[in-house]
Amino acid sequence: MIENRITVKSIKSPNEQGYYGKFGGAYIPEMLYPNVEELRTRYLEIMNEAAFQKEYRTLLKDYVGRPSPLYLAGRLSAKYNTSIYLKREDLNHTGAHKINNTVGQILLAQRLGKRRIIAETGAGQHGVATATVCALKGIECIVYMGEKDIARQAPNVARMKMLGAKVVPAVSGSKTLKDATNEAIRDWINNPTDTHYIIGSVVGPHPYPDMVARFQSVISEEIRAQLREKTGSELPTHVIACVGGGSNAAGTFYHFLDDASVELIAVEAAGRGVHSGKSAATTQLGKPGVLHGSRSYVMQTEDGQVVEPHSISAGLDYPGIGPLHAYLYDSGRATFLSATDDEALKAAFELTRLEGIIPALESSHALAALDQLQLNEKDTVVLCLSGRGDKDMATYMYAMEGGML
Ligand SMILES: *Cc1c(COP(=O)(O)O)cnc(C)c1O
Repeated sequence: MIENRITVKSIKSPNEQGYYGKFGGAYIPEMLYPNVEELRTRYLEIMNEAAFQKEYRTLLKDYVGRPSPLYLAGRLSAKYNTSIYLKREDLNHTGAHKINNTVGQILLAQRLGKRRIIAETGAGQHGVATATVCALKGIECIVYMGEKDIARQAPNVARMKMLGAKVVPAVSGSKTLKDATNEAIRDWINNPTDTHYIIGSVVGPHPYPDMVARFQSVISEEIRAQLREKTGSELPTHVIACVGGGSNAAGTFYHFLDDASVELIAVEAAGRGVHSGKSAATTQLGKPGVLHGSRSYVMQTEDGQVVEPHSISAGLDYPGIGPLHAYLYDSGRATFLSATDDEALKAAFELTRLEGIIPALESSHALAALDQLQLNEKDTVVLCLSGRGDKDMATYMYAMEGGML
């Protein structure tokens, strides 16, 4: 059998049906077909319009604060005997990379004539980024969030409410992200014409993985230009990013995917240990399956029930990965590593004490991978610092008080 991948010109883009090799597609209930089909037939045409690009780029510059700096971390580099550049997504408005995508999708929703935005959120980071752009555009915003997560993530719930969003608790199942996603899908089915669903990572049915990857690809577009200016070459030897659903990694890898000399390193959350039963290391533990509308690696039982993941960082606490990453894993184009909760905590304190930068717990997983690589002084490493650590201060304080660090 001839595989789809052979017909794909660049691994950047999926084929017509949304497949990267065997992964991707659009596995959706019949009732969602009109919504997804409208998006599929219009997204590229809208994204390529000059007026769209102008508005998107202007907002990225003046509202988000892009380009985010590419910072040569001197003391961190000395420790690992190499050159480590941090891509400072933590300095974006709202504190992470997620806003790159929500700014893009809100402009798309406007051009599709939508008057109502729905989103799902786990830790609340994507919910805040969505509520932010809805306030910016004066559009109604409803965020579905598991009842348990609402209790655990009070500061972000307060932010969303202050921004004018309605936060609706998902009270079924485990009352977490997966249940919030189900509620959002139900809402979309009931509101097929006036509502756009802003998905927060490179997951979901085609065209979401490709659309979100394109919006986040501004990260690697900037890295190439910034590296050329700083080193004379656009190509690093290593690019490192953490993977929950995989949007910051997709954006950081995107413009390097076709440069075979660049080693792409994705870091998953191992939780208390890959085989502890409390982990979110999807490529290690998962099998091919369908989750939230696309075919990818999914953590599941023998009979296909989704397994509850665990990570100290809510943003990596997801039982799947985007189909692009499943393909990168399967084809060997990217190397997948993992870091435990404790390794991530240690890396967070290391960066803070060496560079005066408090990273998000998610980004700390990428930092923890530095220990696992054989780096030397000739290497140029770019690491995506996907977010800032403000939201994680309670966890960091707890670790300090517990004498862990
Ligand atoms: C949400 C989040 C992540 C994980 O999401 P991806 O789609 O894998 O990027 C990583 N870092 C931060 C700071 C986040 O908020």
